[in-house]
Amino acid sequence: MSEFFTCEKCGSTEAKNGQLSGYANLHKPGFNITSSKLLATFCGSCGHVESFKVDRPERF
Ligand SMILES: [Zn+2]
Repeated sequence: MSEFFTCEKCGSTEAKNGQLSGYANLHKPGFNITSSKLLATFCGSCGHVESFKVDRPERF
């Protein structure tokens, strides 16, 4: 995703993306219907998670 990714742990530049699923969906407090997927960007070499991103921030 990010062409400028550099892992702060091992220095690898191979970024990978994943999606947290199931109960890892992010909910607006008190509004269980309002939720969004949570996307993670992590190092393809050592697995260090570089960032989390809310897929649909406009829902909040
Ligand atoms: Zn790494």
